[in-house]
Amino acid sequence: MKSKKGFSSTSVHGVGERDKMGSVVMPIYQTSTFFFKSAEDGAKCFSGESDGFIYTRLGNPTIDEFEATIAALEHGYNGIATSSGMAAVNTVYLTYLGQGDHVVCHNALYGPSRGILETAYPRFGVESAFVDTTDLKNVEDAIKPNTRLIFLETPANPTIGICDIEAICKLAHQHGIKVCVDNTFCSPYLQNPLDLGADIVLHSLTKFINGHADIVGGIVIPKSEEDYGKLNYTMVNFGFNMDPHQAFLARRGVKTLGIRIDRAQENAMKVAEYLESHPKIAWVKYPGLKSHPQYDLAKKQMRGPGAMISFELKGGYEAGKRLMDNVKFCVLAVSLGGIETLIQHPASMTHSKLSKEARNVGGITQGLVRLAIGIEEVEDIIADLEQAMEE
Ligand SMILES: *Cc1c(COP(=O)(O)O)cnc(C)c1O
Repeated sequence: MKSKKGFSSTSVHGVGERDKMGSVVMPIYQTSTFFFKSAEDGAKCFSGESDGFIYTRLGNPTIDEFEATIAALEHGYNGIATSSGMAAVNTVYLTYLGQGDHVVCHNALYGPSRGILETAYPRFGVESAFVDTTDLKNVEDAIKPNTRLIFLETPANPTIGICDIEAICKLAHQHGIKVCVDNTFCSPYLQNPLDLGADIVLHSLTKFINGHADIVGGIVIPKSEEDYGKLNYTMVNFGFNMDPHQAFLARRGVKTLGIRIDRAQENAMKVAEYLESHPKIAWVKYPGLKSHPQYDLAKKQMRGPGAMISFELKGGYEAGKRLMDNVKFCVLAVSLGGIETLIQHPASMTHSKLSKEARNVGGITQGLVRLAIGIEEVEDIIADLEQAMEE
């Protein structure tokens, strides 16, 4: 589903039909079920001859309109909205992986996207490899005859490593392997993995797309009708569906996605430059800085560097914890992509359950801090970091 209009025009107006009752904003069809006009009408809905609604887990006008809008922004066939980002991840895993199959993943995936493959999927005979997919050679070496899926996150969480989507897709398709990209950190405003060859793209809507830190949600967008059918079957029958009220809020959030990211990334560039010149900071990772190891690749496959920054405090673990206690304006919380600036220390928070060695392999060092920049005035963000690092 492609739109000939610009990004924000599409995100505001959508691509589907407007509401039949004349409501300018798509209303919340808060219903579990839909009545049929006759036995024949019911029969046609079930056979697929008519596209009437049956039951909300299978489809709902509020959810459908939201799915079509995101699919248009990602240049995909159609969207499959889910109750959470993790429901979107599992919709993909459960569709393509079964007994005896193998999946190759980036080693710095969102924690639970990796964790579930390590703890639950081995019970169903699924094997996984976690490698640094920012180096194509590692992907090539990890592919086995039973590899069915390559699962990437770029930029990755929380190390901001960047994978070459086009090169990896080319390699994968030579082996008949599907590629899924978790595009949460970029949103469709900054990156369209399907245009670079990926088969499936997914999002935690909880982050940039909804953007207001008030719901949890996810979406899967395949490129082909065939993949859509398979993925939708998984979503519907495992019961990973979104609720109409969730869809309404996410639909409202996406209308301002473009302008929110413009402001957040303008702020992020200034914060990254400030941090890079700070004497207490060892290094900063931000795709907009020339010092980022994949700066050229970021320029090629992303339309902007985004709003996520990682940096390493020279003082290590203790300095990381001290910074968390000292910030007064930046909010000490996990998640990202909202309008407020959030800060967290992975070694003592999101990744604290991992051993120090496992953290180091994934690039999560002791003094690593992750900043998700919001849309506030940048002077206030920098002043807060300045006072918090003084002590
Ligand atoms: C948050 C997140 C998820 C999981 O999404 P939920 O909405 O929390 O279930 C998956 N991938 C990435 C990159 C995320 O940041």
